[in-house]
Amino acid sequence: MDFILASNNQKKLGEMQRILAPLGIQVVTAKMLGKTLEDVVEDGDTFEANARIKAMHACRVMNMPAIADDSGLCVDYLDGAPGIYSARFSGGHGDDEANNDLLLEKLAGVPMEQRTAYYVCAICCVFPDGREITVRGECHGHIGFERDGSEGFGYDPLFIVDGRAFGRYTAEEKDKISHRGNALRKLTEELEKIV
Ligand code: IMP
Repeated sequence: MDFILASNNQKKLGEMQRILAPLGIQVVTAKMLGKTLEDVVEDGDTFEANARIKAMHACRVMNMPAIADDSGLCVDYLDGAPGIYSARFSGGHGDDEANNDLLLEKLAGVPMEQRTAYYVCAICCVFPDGREITVRGECHGHIGFERDGSEGFGYDPLFIVDGRAFGRYTAEEKDKISHRGNALRKLTEELEKIV
């Protein structure tokens, strides 16, 4: 069975291909099929809602099973911000440096025990016959006082799990405990029941 991924992000594509291949599922992008999938307005107010909006759109346009994810960082001291706005916390979309600077600024003077945070990843699969699966993975940690390491992306240099920033985790180490890894493992369990 082929799934269309509602994203052209090569990292996400590789990760999903790797994890879903053993189930006999090939993940492809619209581009790989010589088609264009327009961006859809992500106006949901939860990670799950935004993943579903993207998957529904891809399924409808391409008329094939679709998969989409939505992820971000929730900081307890900031009442869950940046949350679904993680990619554009500082204004520009996907400016990791500015996002990390702003996060450090907002947490200036806040002690470690109050710097708890968690990553969230929601993944939604939608089938042309109307079936849907939505799963959520989380990964809990702390926000450090300064950047550490150069692995990963986004907020990883500031996100500390077990005394070490994700910026110092290899991709394999991160996969084992990350929000995305956890969500993909749950998705695999659900898909095994129906494919
Ligand atoms: P999206 O789901 O690709 O739109 O990602 C949303 C944003 O959340 C990213 O731009 C990052 O800022 C942040 N984010 C999501 N997952 C991670 C992660 O694993 N590490 C670091 N930042 C992440």
